[in-house]
Amino acid sequence: MTINANTVSHVDAVVVGAGFAGLYMLHTLRDKLDLEAAVFEAADDVGGTWYWNRYPGARCDISSYHYSFSFSEEIQQEWSWSEKYAAQPEILAYLGFVADRLNLRQDINFETRVISSDYDEASQRWTIKTNKGHTVICKYYISGVGTLSYAANPEFEGKDSFKGEVYSTSSWPHHGVDFTGKTVGIVGTGASAIQAIPLIAQEAKHLTVFQRTPNYATPLQNGPMDEQEAHAIKANYGEFREKPGPLWPEYLSRKCGSPFLRKVLKRSKNTWKAAGKKAVFHCGWAVMATSFLTKRPTKSQQSSFARRYARVKDPRTADLLCPDYLYGTKRQPCETNYFETYNRDNVSLVDIKSNPIRRITERGLELDNGDGYVFDCLIYSTGFDAFTGPLFNLNLKGRKGVSLREHWSEGPRTNLGIMSHGFPNFFMITGPQSPSVLFNMPLGIEQHVEWIADVIRYMEDNGLESIEPEKAKEDDWREMVEGIANSTLMPKTNTWYTGSNIPGKPRSFMVYLGGGAAYKQECDEAARNGYDGFILGSADVQREAVAS
Ligand code: NAP
Repeated sequence: MTINANTVSHVDAVVVGAGFAGLYMLHTLRDKLDLEAAVFEAADDVGGTWYWNRYPGARCDISSYHYSFSFSEEIQQEWSWSEKYAAQPEILAYLGFVADRLNLRQDINFETRVISSDYDEASQRWTIKTNKGHTVICKYYISGVGTLSYAANPEFEGKDSFKGEVYSTSSWPHHGVDFTGKTVGIVGTGASAIQAIPLIAQEAKHLTVFQRTPNYATPLQNGPMDEQEAHAIKANYGEFREKPGPLWPEYLSRKCGSPFLRKVLKRSKNTWKAAGKKAVFHCGWAVMATSFLTKRPTKSQQSSFARRYARVKDPRTADLLCPDYLYGTKRQPCETNYFETYNRDNVSLVDIKSNPIRRITERGLELDNGDGYVFDCLIYSTGFDAFTGPLFNLNLKGRKGVSLREHWSEGPRTNLGIMSHGFPNFFMITGPQSPSVLFNMPLGIEQHVEWIADVIRYMEDNGLESIEPEKAKEDDWREMVEGIANSTLMPKTNTWYTGSNIPGKPRSFMVYLGGGAAYKQECDEAARNGYDGFILGSADVQREAVAS
């Protein structure tokens, strides 16, 4: 519902965010549970991550028919994707279509940012305040803020002194940017920059790429969607979502499970090579399997693999593009013409690992060795304070006024990656320590929304007022998440999975790697056992026991 500013409003549930998560949560609360729900969204439209990340080349690298909602057969049948891997405008249009189809916009408060979230123990209610003067009191508080929605902005000396145009891939201007005839510098070579660089290079007079870590980018092999294939998928959409198969690989279906992990844990050095080769020539996400290798490939194997697909003429540039970290331990970016772009006369690559950025200047930037660069436009593509950044930004204070930041001072503490002790009735869709970014996001979101809806239904049916995880259960869950991660090579590299891309952030592995199916079993089992591992409270319960 829309909320009036400057009065105190009461609703059953508040949801933050109107991306995939917020839209489905609103639909579920309102249309399936018949509850009053309000959504707050900072943007002026729906879309979440796909609203903000509209830089040139932004597109999904999960195939379009997988990267969509499955909860409505009508919506599945009515929407058709034009490309194998949808571009940002098409995904944004899809989410707009879903919002209109389900009449969701009327209950979303746009251009409104949550500034504080306080739990009151006496009333067992949350009070949410916004930058537009709203005060809303609610029983259920649900975060759909996403995992990669809080930009990491490195604090370079002199950052504000640059007098030219400054852009960030994570919040690109709606009107687009015309780089024709302009000199451009871009900092960062992660998945976003790898998509943007080839297109910016086509326009710019000159593009200088400042690279700290080269990446194992894999050809996306995008193209128009084959109509026959689309027809076959739509005819068996249910099966497509459930089962692995040649057309529908398991890592994107609900059956993405622990067999996946067991299988890849057994891989040897040789299968690494084969998988790498397959990735080069056939694209994609199959290569994620190799992320879980337990044996280290040698440095020369990694380099030769990288050179094979680094289709770059200048040997020095090709060398600079060869990654030196463990294959697959960072998120695998997909590329289209990325490496060829470095063959253009108007593109240069600068290594800022051996010679870091010392400061930003009025006209560009300067490196440690004194080399200076001058541009008209400077683009930051420096990533995100993933998982915890957007949650901390809600300024949550739970029981006894303890903030989420304090409770998580040594890294996230959750049960199932959905709830945290001391923050009753606060739910995190795709929160840290759930499969989130290493599963198919829309399916992961659906599973969380449906699990949360079941909790709420159970509470309403049983006259319960609060639910939160047992403190000890958070230790068990963390041990499990870290234990699975530590049986792979993934935690060994500095990545946003571990928080190590953000100075001072405590290091912990923030993704459950056991696979979507095994994870769902854990969630379902807790529910089946009357929310085992959670403390359920009625109105007259003595809360002291819980707070210990
Ligand atoms: P990212 O992968 O974290 O890349 C950030 C880049 O900025 C890295 O090259 C990083 O270098 C560099 N950087 C950060 N701080 C720096 C500093 N102080 N000095 C110099 N360089 C610095 O961020 P992203 O490219 O935005 O991608 C984030 C995630 O979004 C992806 O991993 C992916 O999950 C998602 N994404 C998905 C798609 C898709 O196709 N579906 C597209 C784009 C993004 P280091 O590596 O050395 O830290």
